[in-house]
Amino acid sequence: MTILDKKLETAKTVLILGHVRPDGDCIGSCLGLYNYLETVYPQIKAQVCLEEPAGKFAYLKGFDQISTLFPQDTSYDLCLCLDCSDESRLGEGIRGLKLAEDSICIDHHITNTKYCRENVVLPEASSTCEVLFGLLDEEKITKETAECLYTGIVHDTGVFRYSCTSSKTMEIAGKLMDKGINFTEIIDGSFFRKTYVQNQILGRALLESITFLHGKCIFSVVRLKDMDFYGVTSKDLDGIIDQLRITEGVHCAIFMYEIEPQIFKVSLRSNTELNVAKIAGFFGGGGHVKAAGCTMSGTIYDVINNLSGHIEQQMIQLEGQKKEKEDDTCTTE
Ligand code: 5GP
Ligand code: MN
Repeated sequence: MTILDKKLETAKTVLILGHVRPDGDCIGSCLGLYNYLETVYPQIKAQVCLEEPAGKFAYLKGFDQISTLFPQDTSYDLCLCLDCSDESRLGEGIRGLKLAEDSICIDHHITNTKYCRENVVLPEASSTCEVLFGLLDEEKITKETAECLYTGIVHDTGVFRYSCTSSKTMEIAGKLMDKGINFTEIIDGSFFRKTYVQNQILGRALLESITFLHGKCIFSVVRLKDMDFYGVTSKDLDGIIDQLRITEGVHCAIFMYEIEPQIFKVSLRSNTELNVAKIAGFFGGGGHVKAAGCTMSGTIYDVINNLSGHIEQQMIQLEGQKKEKEDDTCTTE
């Protein structure tokens, strides 16, 4: 019996929370768990609370049951925090966690602060959906639950491309496919498909991108006035960082968008040993070694200058370590 089952045996009310600005893995894991509870523990009253999720995930069962209003004074028996590395990332959900009798965090972020009573954190897992799969009874996963978990895995692995994808990830994805899900539509519809304006803003961000540190870094920014001009929100900016990252010769990609005047949500990606979780962590954010984020304030110039200082420092360190290794091999040969 897993720790999750043990706690679910006695809980009557369950609150499911994710992180601010929920992505595919966050929404997929929250709804995957919600659907699982509905079939396996029908006696439990469960509620998913998240910030406004993107409409492209509306095909997931339970999507219309998500509440964007967070509990203010209701005390749930058990609070389950999914895909959320620290308390501050719960946003308004923090109150629900504090009021709950018991809590479990299920996550895969290396920067997780283990802020719940029980914490199931596997940094080597591709996604929270992968961690969650390991806590569920495979036989009891319905097609609807499988759709949620598959969606999360697809999003956090960039459709099985990122280095976080393991043979175990593929095995799990295979088992979910065997539940009869329409995987091609999930991939096209929730990951690749773009509206006309989403393509326009992607094109604009690529056109205005700049490279620095001898082409090893690429950077682009979308300002509030650009978002107003195209009539887009932050949810329309998915995929921009992915395209920047695959630019030939790039070690590190930076994409940021303005959330308030001179306050930027920053996404960082690494193609090398460069640890972007460390850089994001320095600026109060977090994430994974090769994909991380933070919020920074100041002018665009300030933000880029601060980030590039840290990137360059790590690059010099890595170069030094590489050289040391080479010298070692030379002397031992
Ligand atoms: P993205 O760049 O796609 O927003 O995020 C990349 C990864 O970093 C995700 O796993 C996300 O959860 C994490 N991340 C992004 N922004 C923050 C942040 O401000 N704080 C922390 N702790 N993690 C973040
Ligand atoms: Mn995730």
